[in-house]
Amino acid sequence: MPVYASTRGGAPSIRAAEAILTGIAPDGGLYVPEELVPFTLGEIEAMRDISYAEISARVLSKFLSDWDEAEILGLTREAYSAFPRGDAAPLRPIRSRLWAMELYHGPTLAFKDVALQLLPRLMAKSALMTGGAEERLILTATSGDTGKAALSGFCDVPGTRVCVFYPEGGTSEAQRLQMVTQRGGNMHVIAVKGDFDDAQTGVKRLFADKELRERLAAKGICLSSANSINLGRLAPQVAYYFRAYVRLLSTGALRMGEPLVFCVPSGNFGDILAGYYAMRLGLPVGRLICASNSNNVLHDFFRTGVYDAGRPLLKTASPSMDILVSSNLERLLYAVTNGDAARVASWMRDLRSDERRFEVGEEIRARLSAIFSGYWADEGETASAIERAYREYGYLCDPHTAVGLDCYEAYARDTGDGRPAVLVSTASPFKFASSVLGALDPGAASRLDDFECADALAERTGQTVPAAIGELKRLPVLHTAVCSPEDMKAALCRELFG
Ligand SMILES: *Cc1c(COP(=O)(O)O)cnc(C)c1O
Repeated sequence: MPVYASTRGGAPSIRAAEAILTGIAPDGGLYVPEELVPFTLGEIEAMRDISYAEISARVLSKFLSDWDEAEILGLTREAYSAFPRGDAAPLRPIRSRLWAMELYHGPTLAFKDVALQLLPRLMAKSALMTGGAEERLILTATSGDTGKAALSGFCDVPGTRVCVFYPEGGTSEAQRLQMVTQRGGNMHVIAVKGDFDDAQTGVKRLFADKELRERLAAKGICLSSANSINLGRLAPQVAYYFRAYVRLLSTGALRMGEPLVFCVPSGNFGDILAGYYAMRLGLPVGRLICASNSNNVLHDFFRTGVYDAGRPLLKTASPSMDILVSSNLERLLYAVTNGDAARVASWMRDLRSDERRFEVGEEIRARLSAIFSGYWADEGETASAIERAYREYGYLCDPHTAVGLDCYEAYARDTGDGRPAVLVSTASPFKFASSVLGALDPGAASRLDDFECADALAERTGQTVPAAIGELKRLPVLHTAVCSPEDMKAALCRELFG
């Protein structure tokens, strides 16, 4: 039962289990569902009083249509027990008709945990279904949060090794320490002298490297990915959009069928794409606001139809969004062209060319604008959103979420759209303590190191520093490898084969 096609049309369609194990398609495309059967409103309403794990299983079974739903539920129950009260997506009111969906209460304090606590279980099950008894090597590029979430999710999972490439100097200090202090016999962490795009391009190159694949295959190792290019990363993220909706139904904040607006701080475009899939699955979504930081390629794209990555990558206080090439946009383009793989492939060729840009034309741009709005916040706007959120609403948010808040407010001002809205809150403020304290009290932050900033932030706000941050200063650094973007293959082989 082939159900997943490559966005570039140059690879055969495969089953979900194979797509989860493979990650990226052999033609360089991403796997997309050939068909999604929407929920009825009645089925959505029936999600009102069930647990997060149960909603997740129902939504996942749309993507894993040849899997047994009761078995999926077993996996989601295990995965979401890593979250307080089994709830991966609690809602908190910010102000009238605006809620924060806090996806960051998992073990590594960023929303990546929602998918990465589950992905290892989906992979193990997929391996059973496809009969692959091989060892897996998970190769992952990270802009800061995916790396640690993958290391945590796969730590000591039998038959699996993980290698994470992160941009040296491109993450927050807490993000870096979370990765380089990771324990476990199956973990490799390598700094790349470059930015996230260099790391991501390098990882895509490793996937396409036949010689490497053969060398690994000779040792019984196959490659896979924990980035949101992997279907098994993306599909689990769809569930929380449903969860937010039915939560607001329960409290009476929404009527059944009433559209809900979502604002999503975006980088690689995985999180917001999951919102788009939720809409395709029948969820009444009023609008998807794509919030970018100063790396505002997506904003420009939604406004003009031109995707132009030919610009310098800027370092910001929201490093997990410091991305110029947003991989998952390719899946959206495939969907809005009704599966025109030839067109998608030609845009992706243009993007890889020296021009580093492609243009979708007015008709496609208009189709996208019917659903998406692009906004962006610069560094000053981000800092003042952190300060304003805390002063006006008593809401302490991290810089990524602050970008989202600023973008949401600009959108509401521009359009007058006062419909109920959910801001996707993607990381703990304590993971970015110096930026957050710096926004609240610039003088204090400049005198303190990152750990002191976390303590000062806790004291100032009456919150506690999460244990996962506090412990970082005591843990030994276990990973010190560094390489240039050209040498990622050699660095990987040194890690694996000595
Ligand atoms: C990864 C990440 C984002 C961006 O999500 P994408 O799926 O890459 O668009 C935003 N905020 C935080 C904290 C993240 O870790």
